[in-house]
Amino acid sequence: MANYIASEIMTNTSATPQQTPVADPSDKVVLGWTHTARFLTTASELVHLPPNELPEIAFVGRSNAGKSTAINTLAQQKRLAFASKTPGRTQHINLFELGPKDAADAWFADLPGYGYAAVAKAAKLRWQKVMADYLGTRRSLSGVVLMVDSRLGLTELDKQLLEFVTPRVRNGEIKLLVLLTKSDKLNRKEADAALFATQDFLGGIVTEESDVSVTLFSALKKKGVEDVARALHEWAHPKAQPAAETAEDAEEAEPADAAPPAPAAAS
Ligand code: GDP
Repeated sequence: MANYIASEIMTNTSATPQQTPVADPSDKVVLGWTHTARFLTTASELVHLPPNELPEIAFVGRSNAGKSTAINTLAQQKRLAFASKTPGRTQHINLFELGPKDAADAWFADLPGYGYAAVAKAAKLRWQKVMADYLGTRRSLSGVVLMVDSRLGLTELDKQLLEFVTPRVRNGEIKLLVLLTKSDKLNRKEADAALFATQDFLGGIVTEESDVSVTLFSALKKKGVEDVARALHEWAHPKAQPAAETAEDAEEAEPADAAPPAPAAAS
């Protein structure tokens, strides 16, 4: 597999206690999970969004960034995120449910694409308010996937959007994954430069508590699909962190020559 979650470099791992490694779920498990995504409901205003106790993962990005294609590719469904393209629905938040039918375990929220030049100013302002409110106040929001065209990199609008959510990313309340989409259009050197520039910007957001990452993604070449599905699966099913019961246990659990956790394989 040629792709990697490049930002494992930036992801804070220092707070993770040494523990018996838990095997990562297989590609089949994580892709099987994203495949369960099904349309739940749509809302044009925040107050109309149903309350949610499950982890909610929001997908955001400029129009044309490849958001619908990425969601459909992750879910391995042709028309799942099609609703957000339907005239009249483009300014809506579309919700999808994941997990077993009788025991959903996460929601995906597909947020309106932004930056479309032809949108009137009033509509743009309305969008800003919906996004700022959603990203700043939605309690169930546990992760944000920002889709950025890898040829453009983070634009001013993307940075503005990130500002809405930065306080909650910095305190670890919300995880952030940036997908550099359509990476099939870049050669290796350009792809490295895109990763570097994005990491450089995100470096200003990262804290001890935060979980911030960036990866190349191509729906066309199916690059990064398993890695992203795994990251989202992990967000929705965080591994239990067994706490050492006593100080002695803690000492026993920590080998004297403990090495820091290995970064994810970059192959
Ligand atoms: P959205 O507005 O963000 O939902 O963007 P779309 O998913 O509709 O994609 C916008 C355009 O980019 C479409 O023409 C897609 O076919 C194209 N696109 C999306 N993903 C990829 C990709 O991985 N590679 C390439 N080459 N084109 C892509």
